[in-house]
Amino acid sequence: MNQTRLKKYAKLAVYTGVHLAEGQTLIIQADIDTASFTRMIVEEAYEAGAREVLVYYRDPYLEKHNYHYQSNEVLSEVHDWQLERHLDYLRKGAATLSVISPRAGVLKDCDPQKMAIRQKAFSEASKEIREYTMASKIQWSIVAVPNEEWAKLVFPNKDEKEAIECLWDAILNCVYVEENNDPLEVWNQREELFQSRIEKLNQFNFKQLHFQNNLGTDLYVGLIKNHIWGGGSETAQNKIRFNANLPTEEVFTAPDFRNVNGIVYASRPLLYNGNLIKDFHMTFEAGKVIEYDAKEGKAVLKEMLEMDEGSASLGEVALVPYDSAISQSKLLFYTTLFDENASCHLALGNAYPSTVKDGLMKSEEELKALGFNISLIHVDFMFGSADMKVMGETQNGDWVSVFENGSFVI
Ligand code: ZN
Ligand code: ZN
Repeated sequence: MNQTRLKKYAKLAVYTGVHLAEGQTLIIQADIDTASFTRMIVEEAYEAGAREVLVYYRDPYLEKHNYHYQSNEVLSEVHDWQLERHLDYLRKGAATLSVISPRAGVLKDCDPQKMAIRQKAFSEASKEIREYTMASKIQWSIVAVPNEEWAKLVFPNKDEKEAIECLWDAILNCVYVEENNDPLEVWNQREELFQSRIEKLNQFNFKQLHFQNNLGTDLYVGLIKNHIWGGGSETAQNKIRFNANLPTEEVFTAPDFRNVNGIVYASRPLLYNGNLIKDFHMTFEAGKVIEYDAKEGKAVLKEMLEMDEGSASLGEVALVPYDSAISQSKLLFYTTLFDENASCHLALGNAYPSTVKDGLMKSEEELKALGFNISLIHVDFMFGSADMKVMGETQNGDWVSVFENGSFVI
């Protein structure tokens, strides 16, 4: 890929993504395939005035061996130092950046139960770390880099080298990085569009949303009283504005976990812990999944739904117009970071405290009493389509059209 575009992308991650402050430390969690691009980010971060940049690499192939050879006892152990190496810096105000490069196939044949054991132990132990991002105590962001397996998944008819080039091009298009533009400026302009949508939705203050399409979705999603719509950039508790996801096209808020009813059909496959879940649907009653099925990956879906008390309820509802850049690319990325921006989506599991008025100041019990879902997981799945219709019910009981044919009409 063209080095100018790559350098711009690295810069976008540091400035628009985490918006690193001068003198701030940056922790980078990177998949091992991203090493050469991650080095570019490290350089950009130092150029931007980083105090220190730490990089922790993750290798899915090592994880595969762990699942294969380690006992359940070892898989459920999380050592203090593994958390402290992050927490020590986070407590002192470091920002974090994830550089992902998904490899769907590597963990595909691992025992879902063993993976669930590890996931649960790790999620429980890293609650404090997660709060730094879920509650935006510091700035955080995610960017993605191709690898040959991912590239072949997205572009099956191209040879490896060509597929990687095509995926790079698609990724950079999705984040508006062109050879001859200033992507930082483009992102500033898009911010205004997000703010106007959010303002309108907050003014409507809907009681619930009703989703319908030809796939069979017919779902009522109750919203928390005093919910807040978010999208585009957000402000961390340290007052710095940042973009948690590059790319991003969504506006989102908190459903009432006790008040979701109906049926939802996924419109795109979901990759969870390296496993594909395809052609699935879920039926909700009083906020909980009471029935579900999947043509592929049902066992993985089961493990996910049974993870804990909140994992079979919703923690996010997001509206994404079907004419977004990512949707228009017609590509299926098999990665939530991209696919969630092509389509309206829901998330099973934990909600974001920033989507409830004064949510960041409330305790877990107070939030729960409002209808805020609490869980160890937060897994987005896509259900939007070109014919998605969304109606919103106002506090007076009037129904307002929000989406027609997959896009905003407000
Ligand atoms: Zn979302
Ligand atoms: Zn989400």
